[in-house]
Amino acid sequence: MINRRRFLTIGSLAGLIPSLSFRSKKSASGLVSTLSSEPTRLAAKPIVISTWKQPKANAAAQAVLDKGGRALEAVEAGVRVPEADPADMSVGYGGRPDRDGHVTLDACIMDERGNAGSVTFLEHIMHPISVARAVMEKTPHVMLSGEGALNFALAQGFKKENLLTKKAEKEWREWLKTAKYKPIANIERHDTIGMLAIDDQGNISGACTTSGLAYKMRGRVGDSPIIGAGLFVDNEIGGACATGLGELVMRTCGSFLVVELMRQGRTPQQACEEAALRIVKKQDYKDIQVGFLAVNKKGESGAFSIQPGFNYTITQQKQTQVIDAKSYLK
Ligand code: ASP
Repeated sequence: MINRRRFLTIGSLAGLIPSLSFRSKKSASGLVSTLSSEPTRLAAKPIVISTWKQPKANAAAQAVLDKGGRALEAVEAGVRVPEADPADMSVGYGGRPDRDGHVTLDACIMDERGNAGSVTFLEHIMHPISVARAVMEKTPHVMLSGEGALNFALAQGFKKENLLTKKAEKEWREWLKTAKYKPIANIERHDTIGMLAIDDQGNISGACTTSGLAYKMRGRVGDSPIIGAGLFVDNEIGGACATGLGELVMRTCGSFLVVELMRQGRTPQQACEEAALRIVKKQDYKDIQVGFLAVNKKGESGAFSIQPGFNYTITQQKQTQVIDAKSYLK
């Protein structure tokens, strides 16, 4: 039962362990555990890894690392790509609005020293990740929200822009005809980017940015800007990020959990699987998607989701691939 795996680009990735046979066992709760089912990818640094199909974002991050830049610079440069891309309708410019028609953005960033910055419920700014970095570096705080975040961004020289594209507005107006409020994280509506990178020095940083759930309640904030939920980095251990229905990730402190499981000796793959199983055991997961992605200090990586359909992009040794993650439901 080896999972379908789609290799999208660009040559072969050296240093992968061949697939192992799938092992499953019954856990105490009766749920099928898939721990150890997927080989962790072998270490090779530098590395850039991001949720969903994001080869352009990875390329921008890799370009920073190629010049000997910090992982922090790399992840910021990387996620700025989908933030500015109107075709990516879950992130930044072109993101789907809330149910009142406002594009509201969440983002966070974390460096190798454990510094973190975050913005939530931010409007009108194309690059929330850079505002999050400014919060980290230029304020004594970790998180700014809403009007305060916007005022801070403007004071830092960020430009106020309209982020609602014609296409997103048209879809929203169509949705208004039924206005069915069902905040389900289905697979198609999610290409929030979480990105992790390890630089030449072996330092790890991460970034996560999103416009959140389409047609969410005004003021709703998801997991993506929450340190420990949508993203967590511990430079001694590794980093993790999440995508999917943020409410479930927040309730389980998902990314922090993945990193802590790696600290206890799990591979990135095992840690992602265990974090997803925690959700499956306690929450109604049938219609919802959550995906985790992780890298450890050695540069090994892993990913796992509840529903099939989650993929991730890995750039290692100058090769980029988009890989389907294994999932709990087949
Ligand atoms: N996790 C994000 C949120 O709940 C959505 C996503 O991953 O697309 O806001």
